[in-house]
Amino acid sequence: MAADNFQSNMVLETTPSGNAQPHRLLIDCGSDARHSLRNLGYMPNDFDAVYISHLHSDHIGGLEWMALANYFVFDGHRATLFAVQELLEPLWEHSLRGGLETSDHGNSQLSSYFDVAPLSIKDGFDWQGLHLDVIPAPHIVTNETTMYSYALFGHGKKQSFFLTTDAIFNPDDHMSLYQKADIIFQDCELGPRHSGVHAHYKELVTLPDAVKAKMWLYHYQAYDKPDAIADGFCGFIEPGQSFDLG
Ligand SMILES: [Zn+2]
Ligand SMILES: [Zn+2]
Repeated sequence: MAADNFQSNMVLETTPSGNAQPHRLLIDCGSDARHSLRNLGYMPNDFDAVYISHLHSDHIGGLEWMALANYFVFDGHRATLFAVQELLEPLWEHSLRGGLETSDHGNSQLSSYFDVAPLSIKDGFDWQGLHLDVIPAPHIVTNETTMYSYALFGHGKKQSFFLTTDAIFNPDDHMSLYQKADIIFQDCELGPRHSGVHAHYKELVTLPDAVKAKMWLYHYQAYDKPDAIADGFCGFIEPGQSFDLG
């Protein structure tokens, strides 16, 4: 999110044995995705699936582009769209319908463009031999409502990871996941204004050393970065950085 960075969208790539093509799951598809993915050499039809954590445009704003590009340019390539059931109707009704409903074959729906896979929090989902737990994480808490983002905990063959997506600082609920994960991808706010909708660096720095030692920070704003390594973190994730999750 820094001015010279892109939004926080990630590619989870698994390579089957042999020379088969890798499978790719895009985790969130923000409005920058057209440019950030091209910078990495990906076209919209390079993804087998997309996971949506919540409905802010830095996480879903690229879906209209992906849907239309796949439909018109890439021979109707269809990606699976994973999202918790509760997000699917508002995703269509409040975010995508205006741009995607009317197309050359008449009225369209989300399923006209994607293979929609509604998820439950109880079951999570499987992706290419990896099981992913879907964890509701409070993101915006007001007197009237709580908006959740759906974080992921991935159980790989060798390593597990916890991806917070967008979440308030919530050590009580997250500590067992922090402790269980081999690697943590943590959204981190920087700067003087604490919005209260993301964990702030000043909060994260109070976490136990053993947690910080496996924590990478992302979704940070364009302020001068503190010395995260000196503070015990793995560091700030840079655009295009990749991780081998084994
Ligand atoms: Zn958000
Ligand atoms: Zn966000």
